[in-house]
Amino acid sequence: MVAKSGSDSEKTRYRTAIIPVTLSGASYRLAHDSCHSAALLWNQGVDWVHAQWKAERSPGKYDIQGFLNSLPLQDRPLHAHTTEIIAHDLHEVITTSRTNNKNGMKVRSPWRKKNYRPLSFSKGYGWRISDNQLHLSLGRGRPRIDLAVPEVCDSATANPVPYDKWGEIQLCWDQDHRRFSLHIPYQTVRESSHGNAITAIDEGIINSMALATWVDDKTVDVTIVNGREARAIKRQRNRAVGQLQHKISKCRPGSKRYRRLVTARKKVNGKTKLSLRDFDHQVSRKAANHVINHNTGRLIVGDVRGIEKETKAKGRIGRHGRQQLSQWSRGAQERYLNEKTNLGIEHLNESYSSQTCPACKTRNRPSGRHYRCKNPVCGFTCHRDAVGAINILQKAIEGVYVPIGPDVTIRVTYLRAVERWSLDQRKAHHKVQCRKARALSSAQMWALSEITQMSKPKLANSSTSTNSLVPDQSVAVA
Ligand SMILES: [Zn+2]
Repeated sequence: MVAKSGSDSEKTRYRTAIIPVTLSGASYRLAHDSCHSAALLWNQGVDWVHAQWKAERSPGKYDIQGFLNSLPLQDRPLHAHTTEIIAHDLHEVITTSRTNNKNGMKVRSPWRKKNYRPLSFSKGYGWRISDNQLHLSLGRGRPRIDLAVPEVCDSATANPVPYDKWGEIQLCWDQDHRRFSLHIPYQTVRESSHGNAITAIDEGIINSMALATWVDDKTVDVTIVNGREARAIKRQRNRAVGQLQHKISKCRPGSKRYRRLVTARKKVNGKTKLSLRDFDHQVSRKAANHVINHNTGRLIVGDVRGIEKETKAKGRIGRHGRQQLSQWSRGAQERYLNEKTNLGIEHLNESYSSQTCPACKTRNRPSGRHYRCKNPVCGFTCHRDAVGAINILQKAIEGVYVPIGPDVTIRVTYLRAVERWSLDQRKAHHKVQCRKARALSSAQMWALSEITQMSKPKLANSSTSTNSLVPDQSVAVA
């Protein structure tokens, strides 16, 4: 937390809060129609750009905006700023596809016809708050979309964010949840780590991230973030989706049952998507805490990109392993970690990092989660993922795997990404709660008996009250 105190390290940035909203009947229809009109505008913009390209002209973002504004008024029943944002979005997508193409990715520029597009409302013009209501404007002379003012909390401080910190609001249709939600960006302080320590990260499916940093010459700190929670969520989702898919395959496409099943599948996917997003944030939060607490200046990640490629052809991994690999949200976790620490991430070849012994450089194949060096002279033991992270750290500093000294202490901290209780913990908690409840009820009995004692003041004194507790209790209960 030392790194946060510097004044120039405090940069403002935007976070986006996603808030599901309930719209009244009229507003709901209005929002639906407007999202559809926004999509039609987009489609016209795409067609126009394609025509321009055929005529060997390359329109800029103000050209697209000019074209959309030249359309008749009934074609654009939206706020002028909303139309403007559609034009600018389209231009941005085209630019992105061009840069991606230059970098060797095969991407098409926008071409698909859309049915629905999110509505953007610019700050100060598109949206306004009055009488405890949020008004989203569709342009002068048209009805507005009115909503109850949503509550936006800063996820870093948990304080409510005042309206003047809100940016451009988007009203989006959440396809999976089948409801509208508001995306509200707000200004917040960007925490960042400023130091010169190097932290190495080993990513895995079972343990999402293992982080290693040298504290001093004799100590390495390792934090291991457990990813069991995500596996459970994914497994549950895969099973549910698989069952639904099986049922869907037996229906006639378009039938009532078919549509009902497809909606059910979307709902399952929508729910899991949210909990997985939350999980990735939890993992990266824990990793970011390690990074900031150790004053890290460089983040090195063992490069596992492309590990999922050609695994079937090479026959190394089974069906279930391949599914686990393809559903591994490593990229999202890296991105979130980058956002939370503001450091940038470097990748480093990590081959044999989890097999090489950090003490003597012998290669061992660890079985299970524990690493034990088979070199009789060495006998090094440690957690498997800690070994990977330490080796990557050594490679990042020295360029090759250099053994750590013989008297180095490895301090390992285990964290669960999501603090949820195991079955044993829950049972133990239940027992304690029962004991507490019993104690509470007897205390209430006590209190009751005291009250009955007080209602008979002539008989009551301190010595008799304890003696008469048992008969009084039965009276009170009856
Ligand atoms: Zn060894």
